[in-house]
Amino acid sequence: ITSKLPQLGTTIFTTMSALAAEVGAINLSQGFPDYDCSPKLIELVNQAMKDGHNQYAPMAGVKALRLAIASKTKKLYDAYYDIDTEITITAGGTQAIFTAITAIVHPNDEVIVFEPAFDCYAPAIKLMGGVVKSLELEPSNDYRIDWAMVKKLITNRTRLIILNSPHNPTATILHQDDIDELSAIVKTQDILILSDEVYEHLIYDGETHHSMAMYPELRERSFIIASFGKLLHATGWKIGYCLAPAYLMTEFKKVHQYLVFSVSSAVQQGIAQYLKDEDTYLNLPSFFQQKRDHFRNGLAKTKFELLPSSGSYFQSVKYGHLTDEADTEFALRLTREAGVACIPTSVFYTRGTDHKVLRFCFAKKQETLDDAVNRLLDFK
Ligand code: GLN
Repeated sequence: ITSKLPQLGTTIFTTMSALAAEVGAINLSQGFPDYDCSPKLIELVNQAMKDGHNQYAPMAGVKALRLAIASKTKKLYDAYYDIDTEITITAGGTQAIFTAITAIVHPNDEVIVFEPAFDCYAPAIKLMGGVVKSLELEPSNDYRIDWAMVKKLITNRTRLIILNSPHNPTATILHQDDIDELSAIVKTQDILILSDEVYEHLIYDGETHHSMAMYPELRERSFIIASFGKLLHATGWKIGYCLAPAYLMTEFKKVHQYLVFSVSSAVQQGIAQYLKDEDTYLNLPSFFQQKRDHFRNGLAKTKFELLPSSGSYFQSVKYGHLTDEADTEFALRLTREAGVACIPTSVFYTRGTDHKVLRFCFAKKQETLDDAVNRLLDFK
């Protein structure tokens, strides 16, 4: 057959997690916690099953959960989203991203993507016949977006800009001046925004998460993607959601209904009950900041050079002063020889740009992080 994605292999997350399991390495590659989610949440989901929530959920999602999402969005971002027309619950962030791209990208439409970029954006764009216009961000510049360069990339075919804050893999966040620049750009022509905000609650040092929901002129052209996997430490449940103004959500739902129709009823019911306690999400920044600080303190003793981590559950390091090895080679060697798996960040650049930066996930038990640091200290 003629492949629709001829250049594409298996996602790095599958590759590195499989290798970590094979060689018995501590897996700090794929981003997921190594501790369990709340027993109370598990109980609520079990109860929902016992109560008979075992048939199809409504296409947009269980009403109680859409209500909980609307109230969380109001509380955090002072934004009102209509539960009937502006919220859809999805099988995780990745499905929401794929659905949004499928719903709005036409053949030859151009989509601006900042790289390094999470690896599910480009394949979805290409499958729709769209064109990825990538702008590379550099660690030497703290991965800041050069908005003058963005302006140069815009043509009358630009359909969509994909943003991701807190950012995977770089752990950077958007600031107010980025929001101002973005607003000025999208106003000039009919450009939509896909804002991947799955790490919205994982933000440190008292910084603000600048959700597109907070800015009316951005909100009216944005799909916002969120993830309960990150919020609840339950990435395996694959539940997330999309927020969008009604005219965009109508298109989103046209795709969603034939991609999955709806997602697990009982899990949605359980989450809806659990979110009644706002501390479930209000406490997340401090919970993860403690892990970030602990991991950074440990890594500071190793030979690696730490990059900043302002949000997400990732910490990147530079190693170019230690060896010339390509980051993909070095990550494999580190996994096999040090017994610590990480993600080489060149895979997130279309051109494979190698800044000799590795990404580690710190959503792990303290003893896992300590064990990993000790192994890295022993690595010669
Ligand atoms: N978001 C997770 C990460 O960046 C992995 C998601 C996935 O495996 N598809 O590690």
